[in-house]
Amino acid sequence: MNMEEKEKPVDFIREIIREDLKNKKYDSRVHTRFPPEPNGYLHIGHAKSICLNFGIAEEFKGLCNLRFDDTNPTKEEVEYVEAIKKDVKWLGFDWQDREYYASDYFEKLYEYAVELIKKGKAYVCDLTADEIREYRGTLTAPGKDSPYRNRPVEENLDLFERMRKGEFSDGLRTLRAKIDMKSGNINMRDPVMYRILHAGHHMTGNKWCIYPIYDYAHCISDSIEGITHSICTLEFEDHRPLYDWFLDKLGVYHPRQIEFARLNLSHTVLSKRKLIQLVQEGHVKGWDDPRMPTISGLRRRGYTPKAIRNFCERIGIAKRENMVDMSLLEYCIREDLNKKAPRVMAVLRPLRVVIINYPEDQAEELEAINNPEDPLMGTRKVPFSRVLYVEKDDFRENPPKDFFRLAPGREVRLRYAYYITCVDVIKDRTTGEITELHCTYDPATRGGDSPDRRKVKATLHWVSAPNSIEAEIRLYDHLLTVPDPSEGKEGKDFKAYINPKSLETLTSCHVEPGLRHAAVGNRYQFERQGYFCVDSDSIEGKPVFNRTATLKDTWAKIEKKLI
Ligand code: ATP
Ligand code: MG
Repeated sequence: MNMEEKEKPVDFIREIIREDLKNKKYDSRVHTRFPPEPNGYLHIGHAKSICLNFGIAEEFKGLCNLRFDDTNPTKEEVEYVEAIKKDVKWLGFDWQDREYYASDYFEKLYEYAVELIKKGKAYVCDLTADEIREYRGTLTAPGKDSPYRNRPVEENLDLFERMRKGEFSDGLRTLRAKIDMKSGNINMRDPVMYRILHAGHHMTGNKWCIYPIYDYAHCISDSIEGITHSICTLEFEDHRPLYDWFLDKLGVYHPRQIEFARLNLSHTVLSKRKLIQLVQEGHVKGWDDPRMPTISGLRRRGYTPKAIRNFCERIGIAKRENMVDMSLLEYCIREDLNKKAPRVMAVLRPLRVVIINYPEDQAEELEAINNPEDPLMGTRKVPFSRVLYVEKDDFRENPPKDFFRLAPGREVRLRYAYYITCVDVIKDRTTGEITELHCTYDPATRGGDSPDRRKVKATLHWVSAPNSIEAEIRLYDHLLTVPDPSEGKEGKDFKAYINPKSLETLTSCHVEPGLRHAAVGNRYQFERQGYFCVDSDSIEGKPVFNRTATLKDTWAKIEKKLI
């Protein structure tokens, strides 16, 4: 089904919102947020959350904030903030003037913490991190009260203030919520609210040496911003009672939290913690390596915002985790580029062909169609001459039965050009490698049609050797060799499944002369080869192309199997 003709998405979250609007909850407002932590680049999983949060705001005439959850100064950087903003914009969403930071609320969060201490709902604890873990208990065993749990309010206030003033070293004390060490929900066992960390922050510099924990900061940030529907992934379901507790004890505005299943995509990883390892350990060339499932990687690979948004719409929103096959993402980019990308000819692994009956001093231009899917894209001229390149794969000296392309004595069509027949195979005397084919052409077949309706079984792409431009072409395959590395045997790390063949670089490809000045980011279909995008590594006169996707639609096959 074509996405543009499809109805607006329906899912359980939109149902809830419709119901809330009907009941005039939250003054009939819809206000969502996308809350990334700036500790890495965004990936396609984040795109799902972005499309959901911004999409809902658009649909229900509400607002969506961009909020950086920046409570962890040692892992967060301005580079990530900038990259995240670029990616959200590129996907086509706009937070207008609502760019917020959890760090904007540090003062308020501190005041609220003091309020909780005064209410006897928080205390300063001197246990070390290891001791806290030990006291916490397990899923089956209850926790133990900290010996500092019943510190008088005055002492807590004094110590907390001194924590802020920097009187104590990292890790010496924490502020903890006083809830219930025996709770069946481990998140409720007196969770840490503040820790001491003498570290500079990308927004607040050296103003603070205590930092709020994510769980404490997140729910209050939502409350301060007046978020109506706080949409998050399933792993936060068990944190909801804690968020409720903080907001109830403070008696402040309370958003509604709704959890949905995160996106899992086959043959890759969607976790910043893992992606950062790939970058830092040099398994890929950077966050925007075209093999990465990051937004910046997909952009460089040649993906369009529209394809990614369509993908997010197709996968839908559910309450149960599942694994989406990478071929669906590839299907979405093909669907978008099929009609949009101009078609050109490029020879990836060139084999020289000399047309022996074509006059040496002759040259001509033939008309080629830019995209048969869209007549408005018109035609172009491609040069033809005595020496051409065709694809090595398109010739077999001893063709098997089902091979219909070029072979000794066989006639094939060159697209938009002529019928040619292979009359001789030239080999390197020492290596035996085929270096050149000698062919004849039939001048009566100009344009690729034969007047006597002679049948040929194959049509090949080609380029004219003296006119073509040399190019580098990078072919990509899955980052991982298995669909789901977490299913790995013997608890193997995901890096054990890195595909050593995820990148193949071809350095002496030949493309049509019209691509000489192709701009970085331009996308093409190379006939019979796939979709390609001009990479930023291109230099004047030598373009570099990334293969965005092949032409083979493996999704159609999977879909058929499912039906
Ligand atoms: P990661 O596991 O990659 O580190 P994260 O949840 O820690 O992801 P955040 O920056 O906190 O990263 O994520 C911002 C928002 O994006 C959160 O609301 C989170 O729930 C959502 N999100 C993250 N990963 C996915 C995913 N795979 N599918 C859908 N939403 C996601
Ligand atoms: Mg997170």
